[in-house]
Amino acid sequence: MIGPRRRPPSLRAAIAAAYGTLGRLGFTPGSAGNVSVRAAPAGMLITPSGAAADEVGARDIVALGLDGAVHGRGVPSSEWPMHAAIYRAAPTAGAIVHTHAPSCTALACLGEKLPAFHYMIVAFGGDDVRCAPYVTFGTPALAAAAVAALDGRRACLLANHGMIVHAPSLARALEDAIVLESLAGQYLAARAAGTPLLLSTAELEAARERFRTYGRGAAGGG
Ligand code: 13P
Ligand code: ZN
Repeated sequence: MIGPRRRPPSLRAAIAAAYGTLGRLGFTPGSAGNVSVRAAPAGMLITPSGAAADEVGARDIVALGLDGAVHGRGVPSSEWPMHAAIYRAAPTAGAIVHTHAPSCTALACLGEKLPAFHYMIVAFGGDDVRCAPYVTFGTPALAAAAVAALDGRRACLLANHGMIVHAPSLARALEDAIVLESLAGQYLAARAAGTPLLLSTAELEAARERFRTYGRGAAGGG
């Protein structure tokens, strides 16, 4: 027997759900962090400003042009300039996740990048994950600093602030945010225990090559 047809969850519901997941993971203390998806015709759909992860529903998601014009109602995340700048700079960016996840933020507070201490680093498009210099949140200057640190990469740390990841899809951006936070935690643990061994360019290239035929082809650049 064929059951009743279920409507697929809307994009807005998926964004709210992703933000809720980040909250439950402890990545967005208070109202920290924000999530967006590139969407026509407006430009993007983005989480509202100043809302805790467990209080955002589909109806709270804001439709926003890349110029900051609100289509409909709501107050968009204060970091919309950073999201818009990334969508402009990176054609492969379909979704963006920004968090204050604890290990990424701890490393960012040292102003340090995440080096090639683990082969999974290549999943973010380069030989490291850079740390953008500190700039006041929500400013065009922070947007510019993030875009520069993301050049050729899909993730970067934001000094004294947190991290940001973009990916072709929302599911992938969420997954990558989780992977990046786990890598930052592993790096900090290794640093606390000693001096991590860093992988060579050739070793990273070999890992990249393996990823070309691994699973879904998980390692992606751009
Ligand atoms: P919003 O609540 O405006 O999205 O800001 C949170 C944040 O993380 C600022 O960097
Ligand atoms: Zn932030």
